[in-house]
Amino acid sequence: MAAYDPNNIFAKILRGEVPCFKIYEDDRAFAFLDIMPRAPGHTLVIPKAPARNFLDVPPDDLAHVIKVAQKIAQVSMKVFSADGITLQQFNEAAGGQVVFHLHFHIIPRHDGVAMKPPASIKEDMAVLADQAAKLAAALKA
Ligand code: 5GP
Repeated sequence: MAAYDPNNIFAKILRGEVPCFKIYEDDRAFAFLDIMPRAPGHTLVIPKAPARNFLDVPPDDLAHVIKVAQKIAQVSMKVFSADGITLQQFNEAAGGQVVFHLHFHIIPRHDGVAMKPPASIKEDMAVLADQAAKLAAALKA
């Protein structure tokens, strides 16, 4: 497996070099909206420490990120009045990974509504700002 590349887009987001719609942050995890959501509220949760994917992440970082992902999934159910959540995580190009910093996708789902294809349409920035504010507020409540 290739080494971690500190210039991947999520590393740049973590360093504040690229903007994002943040919904949550603590000392070890960071969460923000996917810019090309497969459904409204599509969130990405990442460890702050460098990890290429599930295969090389230190187990303690993984445990923390998963706890944060569960909390965001629970809150997303309420904020988006969802019927379910799709949790996705891809490893290496062969596994569907495009950005090589470990991330979990949390995708709110509604009965009978298909997900959009991956990376298909860039969401309107005002829509993302509104959704991020609602999620961040619900996570603090
Ligand atoms: P994966 O690596 O799991 O296949 O997918 C990477 C995800 O990152 C995609 O869902 C894509 O829409 C998202 N993505 C790619 N570039 C950016 C970006 O610059 N900002 C944000 N917020 N998401 C991105």
